[in-house]
Formats: sequence, C-alpha cells, structure tokens
Amino acid sequence: MTVNSQHACNLALFGAMGDLSRRKLLKALYYLDRASLLHADTRIIGLARNSLDDQGFKEVAIENLQRFVPTSELDDTILQRFVARLSYIALDMTEITGYQLLADHIAADSKPMVAYMATPPSVFGDICANLDKVGLSHLPNRIVLEKPLGKDLSSSQEINDKVAEHFKEQQIYRIDHYLGKETVQNLIALRFANNLFGSQWNQNHIDHVQITVAEEVGVEGRWSYYDKSGQMRDMIQNHLLQLLCLIAMDPPYDLSADSIRDEKLKVLRALKPMTGERLSQNSVRGQYVAGTQHGKAVPGYLEEEGANLQSTTETFVALKAEIGNWRWAGVPFYLRTGKRMPSKVSEIIIQFRQQPHYIFAPDQRNIASNKLIIRLQPDEGMTLQIATKDQGLDKGMRLRSGPLELNFSEAFKQDRIPDAYERLLLEVMLGNQSLFVRRDEVEYAWRWVDQIIQGWENSNEPPKKYQAGTWGPVSSIALISRDGRSWN
Ligand code: NDP
Repeated sequence: MTVNSQHACNLALFGAMGDLSRRKLLKALYYLDRASLLHADTRIIGLARNSLDDQGFKEVAIENLQRFVPTSELDDTILQRFVARLSYIALDMTEITGYQLLADHIAADSKPMVAYMATPPSVFGDICANLDKVGLSHLPNRIVLEKPLGKDLSSSQEINDKVAEHFKEQQIYRIDHYLGKETVQNLIALRFANNLFGSQWNQNHIDHVQITVAEEVGVEGRWSYYDKSGQMRDMIQNHLLQLLCLIAMDPPYDLSADSIRDEKLKVLRALKPMTGERLSQNSVRGQYVAGTQHGKAVPGYLEEEGANLQSTTETFVALKAEIGNWRWAGVPFYLRTGKRMPSKVSEIIIQFRQQPHYIFAPDQRNIASNKLIIRLQPDEGMTLQIATKDQGLDKGMRLRSGPLELNFSEAFKQDRIPDAYERLLLEVMLGNQSLFVRRDEVEYAWRWVDQIIQGWENSNEPPKKYQAGTWGPVSSIALISRDGRSWN
C-alpha cells in the first residue's frame, strides 16, 4: 500500500507521556514509518503536562522505542527519520493556554489534524472545547477517543454530548482496539468472502457460539482504578460485544463504515434483555480469591494492594446472550471473560450442528460436528475441526476429528502481524471509520450492560468466588452445562 499526499497529517498526541502513548502508540507509529505507511509530511506533536522541549520528547520517544521494540526491528535510519517528525508542547489540557501554540504550530500547512486523546475521558470535553476555541474543530480534522467512554449509559452520553458540541460524528473515531486485530477483521473476510461459511451462518447450521477473553493478570497495581469498573464494563461492554456483533451481523451492503456499523447496531438492538429469571439463569459474576498460577501463589482480589474488603466488583463474567432475530433464534452466544485465569486466551468458537441424519457409531456423535475456532491470541489464526475416517484397516468406519489450520504468522511468514494500534492509527489517518465505534453502538451496548449490572445490584447477591488460576466459579460451568454443552 502506498500513502498518498492526502494522507499526510498533523497528529496531536494528547497524553504523550502516559502509559498508552509510551508503550503502544509511539511504537505503532514507528512501525508504520518502518512500513512506509507514514506520509513524509506527517508530523507528530506530543502534548502533556511535563515541561519538556522538542529534544526532551525525542529522547523520551527513543528511550521507549528502545525498550518496547525488539532490537532487530529498530533500524537506526528509520528511527532518525521517525524522531525528526516529533515536537512537543507542554500544556494543561483543561486550560486554553497552550492550544494557541498548537494552532500556530500547525497553521503553516493545510494538512488535517488528528487529535488522539490518550488521556482520561474526564478531559475529552475540555480538549474538544479548547480545540474548537482555537479554530481546530473543522473538517477534515478528526479526533480519536480512547476507552472507557463512560461507566454507564448516562455518563457515556454526557461525554458524547460534550464532544458533539464541537465535532461532527464523521470526525469522531472511538477506539476499541479489538477491532484493529487482524483476526477480528478477518471475520468479515471469512464470513462474506467464503460462500462455504456465508451460507451456513445461521440458526439452521450453527448450534451455539462461545467467546472467551481470559486474562492471566490480576489488577496489576491498579486496584482502585479497576474496582470502579469491573470486568463487565471493562471487557463485555466494548470488546466482547463488538466481537459478538461481527459474528452475528447480517451482510453489510458494502464495506463502508456506516454499512458495517448499521448492521452491528441491529445486533445490539436485538439482544434480548437480561432481567428477572433470565438474568439469574444466564449470568454469573465472580471474584477471585487467592490461588496458584503456574505453581506460584497469588493473592485474592480483596488481598491486592489498596483493596477495600467490602468490594463486590466482579473480576469474572459469564453470560448466555440471546439475539432475537430470524438468523439467530435459539442460538446461544456464551460469553466469558475474567482475570487470573489459567492462561491468556482470546478465542471465538463457532459450533456447527450435527448432520440431520446420523449414521456413525453412537459414541462418536461429538466428533461428527464441525467446529470453527478463531484465535485472537495467542497464535492468531483459525482452525476448522472436521471429521474424517480414521486410518487403518482395523478402524472400520470410525471417525477422527482433525484440524484444518490457518496460523497467520506461519502462513504469512514474510510479515509480522501488525499490532491493533498500527491498523487503527493508519485507518484514522486514511479517514476510514469502519474500525471505529459509532455513538449509537456505544450507547446500545451500555443499555444492555447497564440492566445486567443493575439487576446484580438489586439482587444483593455477592459475586461468586473462584480461585485464582481457575476458569471461574463453578456456576459458570453450570450456565453452559445446563444446556447440555461445555466450554471449549
Ligand atoms: P496515563 O495516566 O498513563 O496517561 C494519561 C496522560 O494524560 C498523561 O500524560 C497525563 O499527564 C495526561 N493528562 C491527564 N490529565 C491532564 C491534563 N489536565 N493536562 C495535561 N495532561 C493531562 O493513562 P494511560 O496512558 O494508561 O491511558 C490513557 C487513556 O487510554 C485512558 O483513557 C485509558 O483508559 C486508555 N487506555 C489505556 C490503555 C493502556 O494500555 N494504558 C489501554 C486501553 C485504553 P500527567 O502525567 O501529567 O498526569
């Protein structure tokens, strides 16, 4: 791909000294430069409170790139070219002073500005207002908003309203970094470019879907921050629901941003409400207690540094979600995500139904159904489990389940798999909103999540305990085994 002159931009990186910028964004931008995907005229302006000058910021960038990019991939010529793009403005984002400097800094050319807000959402509104005041809110300028967009529907609406006072929806890029993952984008190719799957993708052929996002880590020293959100807000509201939408949506009219987002929105609107009996049967929230991971003792959630012993925040969620439409009637979507799980895994399982008339040995029923496993991590790729005849004269017509494998890093050996932030930054610079979440999607997702959290709070039932290093409370096994199924 080549990047033509219309893709040059001034990237204003708000929160340039923060964790996300240092660890992910500078690195992603370096890799884009290395792949010749940053236009020669693109400039990056770091903005944060620290009193640094341009040279100081360049040194910070080099130090972080040396830390986070493998030495073999850090090319000195590219590094120098990359660093030459950088400059820095010290400012308090809540005050207008400093924004005029930014406006003056970029006034000299006609490149669009991309303002990336790698900051707490509490300052999104101020940044937008101040950009507007200094005349930087016009098209084709864009803004990128990091998660979390609120902690419920009303706080999210409040943020969106403030932003919307200054920027139009077509200028707003809301990040869900799962959408930048190669495998996640591949869901669209898999479903809509392969008739083999496209024709089978409905309740006639699919028995159920599982989405698991398991983290090995606990709260990593950020107990108070995490305790305000919990796994439902932190993972389900955004990442897992976005994955569910991409699996469940109808074919979009085309690949334009709004065609895709219209279809995702229909899925969110069709999610059956989780209240009353359905909530108690179809949801499990858990909280880890002390346990062991890889043979090492780890503390429970309430024993982590800074913990409040009364906390009922969930570190695990399992849900059986149902989509009330023709395509998915009767097909459960089991969602599961938690901290302190035995391993770090993100995967989607599409379990196909068995053939309508079964002719093999009764004890082999499980083998005679296809399963598509889509791995987001580790080892991004896909496996299709298919049944074949077991080989050997003594096997008769015994079946064997075997994988058809597509491991992305092996299949595309010449390239490393780009990080999600590389893809997303590139798409913002290209002005393509397809991989970003529209306001109505965020708000419908909050509506669904809010009623679950509200229901849990009303029930006064504490979260179920599970030992660190296990796959969650036993009731999450019951949630799926009640339907005669099991977690993969
Ligand atoms: P940090 O707290 O590490 O960084 C935030 C940055 O914003 C700092 O540079 C901070 O400056 C600056 N900042 C905050 N308020 C002001 C202000 N009033 N004026 C000037 N600068 C200000 O946060 P993260 O980098 O971890 O996260 C940034 C955003 O990205 C958050 O919304 C987070 O939820 C989201 N995010 C982060 C991820 C990560 O891996 N870190 C992953 C996914 C999302 P100072 O140091 O002076 O306070």
